[in-house]
Formats: sequence, structure tokens, C-alpha cells
Amino acid sequence: MKFAMIGAGAMGLRYGILLQEAGNDVTFIDTWQPHIDRIREQGGVYVMRDHKDRQLTKIKLETPESYNGDPDMFIFFVKQMQLDGYLKRCAHFFNDRQYAFTCMNGMGHIEKLQKYFADDKIIGGTALIATVLPGPGEVDFMGKRGAGKMNMCPLDEKPDEMTHKLFNELDKAQMHPTLTDDFTGTLMTKVIFNSVINTLCTMFEIPMGELGNFKGFYSMGRQLIDEAYDICARADIHLVSTRDEEMAALDRNVRIDMPLHYPSMYQDMIKDRPTEVDYINGYIAELGRKYHYEAATHLFVTQAVHLAEFHRQNE
Ligand code: NAD
Repeated sequence: MKFAMIGAGAMGLRYGILLQEAGNDVTFIDTWQPHIDRIREQGGVYVMRDHKDRQLTKIKLETPESYNGDPDMFIFFVKQMQLDGYLKRCAHFFNDRQYAFTCMNGMGHIEKLQKYFADDKIIGGTALIATVLPGPGEVDFMGKRGAGKMNMCPLDEKPDEMTHKLFNELDKAQMHPTLTDDFTGTLMTKVIFNSVINTLCTMFEIPMGELGNFKGFYSMGRQLIDEAYDICARADIHLVSTRDEEMAALDRNVRIDMPLHYPSMYQDMIKDRPTEVDYINGYIAELGRKYHYEAATHLFVTQAVHLAEFHRQNE
């Protein structure tokens, strides 16, 4: 298949390079100039696995203004607050035949994609795959080859030939995809997962294992989970897992799967970039308001992350 990755950051590079290695034609599109300059200068991206085996990988890299290809599918991996800007700059090469796929965290991105792509051309998903961009021109794929897993679901919940083709390519690339049948439920389940781990680790600047080993983790996590699940019940959103299953998944993820990892929200904060908290806990609280439910804990932690951002800006 022919792919264009919109965003050559941590996840864009991970998906794009693995799809390229699985035999696909992949072009990366990015706008961060120091990253573009470094990749051009060194003739590719340095790829590491768990900080080791640093190897140069050649990639095709364009900017929205220089790209004039016609891929089967765009894969969007930018931060929520960057998406509008990218869509505007890329709109000149979108057409009705093309698909848009994304596993971005948070909520808000699908409505933005719908302004440019028809509903039957949008495939959403979630990724439990940890990747870090230590700086311009280099990326660190956390975990062994084939680590992590992901869910995917077409927006109209009717998988077509292109959905199955994408699934097969992701499978060959060892991303371990699962095709789910409830779009909003799939995405919201991951938003809720991130609303606990990303937010608490970012507020306290701690790795995931430390959160998992704290004896108050269960009650803090459960409070956020209960609020989010109550809101989803009011909004008639069918989550992929029960509250208990979600708590067990959180516990496994922080203590067993990735104890040394800092979530991507923390990585934004330490680079003095805005975090996606408004699209995660903030989104849950907004959804609650719509259904006359005061998500006091999600509102509180949203502001706590903003306070942490504010503190760093004033340091
Ligand atoms: P990223 O920040 O690595 O890259 C996104 C964009 O930001 C790219 O265009 C990149 O070039 C640019 N960028 C990176 N650092 C920058 C800097 N210092 N200044 C200016 N621009 C910069 O983002 P990502 O981690 O690939 O995340 C993309 C989406 O995927 C997000 O919604 C994220 O929450 C989600 N996600 C990330 C992970 C992960 O482990 N990284 C896992 C699952 C989902």
C-alpha cells in the first residue's frame, strides 16, 4: 500500500518505518524544521530500541508544501492541538479516494478529520505502543520488536476492503491489531486509560512503575475510572472493558509492561510543550457537563497538569 504519514514524530516514525519494512511505500510529512534539517543532514532517522542499537534508517521526507503524492491512505500522528494546522496545510493534496487513519490519543481529532474526509473513509484506533522522540532526527522504539498492541475500527463501523488491507499491513508490521466493532467505545476506552496513567505520572513527574507501586494508586485510579464510566453510561458509550478489567489493565501496564516508561504527556511537559490533557481528562469533564454530571476529579487533575506546565514555564 501507499501511505503518507502526517507527522514524523515518535509514533509517525514507528508506524511508518515498520510499515516501510513490511514492504509498503511510505512518505513522511512534517513541519518541525530542526527535525527536517537533521534528517536531511544525516540522510535518515536514527532508530533505537530501548536506548540501544542506534541505526540510521532512510526515509522519504516532505513538508506539506513540497509533497505532491497520491497515497491510498494518510496516517495522522500529530498532537491534538497541531492537527488543525496540519490539515489546513495538507488540504491541497487530499482527494475523495483517499483514507485517513489515526491512533492519536485523546478526543477531538475525529471531528476535525471529518471536515476533510467522508465518514466511510475514516478509520480510528488506539495504540498501546510506547515510543519516544529524544530529539530532532532520532526515535526510540520502546520494547522489543513486536511489542505493544492496538485496536482499530472504521468510523461507520463497516469494515471495507481497505480496512482489511490496512489490518493486514499492520499485522505484517507486527503492530498486533485487533478490529473492533464499536468506534466511540474503542476510542473512549483508551482516553480513560490515559486519563489515569498519563495525567498522574505527569503531575508528579514519575515513571509508570512508581505510580503502580504506590499503595494509593488503586483508589486514585478508581475514582477517575468511576467518574469516566458514569459519564459514558449517561452518554450511551459502550466501553470495551468493564471498570474492574480497566483497573486490572492499568495495573498490568504500569507495574509489569512498562514500569520504567514515562508517558508521552510527561515527555511533552519536560520539553515545555503543551500537553494533551484538555483532550483527555478535559474532554471527559466536558462530556460530563453535557450530561449534567460534574466530573470533579477530572476537572481537578486537568488543572493540576496545567499548574505543572505553568510551574515549568516560570522556572
Ligand atoms: P510527537 O510529539 O513525537 O510528534 C508529533 C509532531 O510534533 C511531529 O510533527 C513532530 O515532528 C513534532 N514535534 C516533536 N517534538 C517537537 C518539538 N520539541 N517542537 C516542535 N514540534 C515537535 O508525538 P507522538 O508521540 O508521535 O504522538 C502523536 C499522537 O499519538 C498523540 O496524540 C499521542 O498522544 C499519541 N500516542 C503517542 C504514543 C507514544 O508513545 N509516543 C503512544 C500512543 C499514542
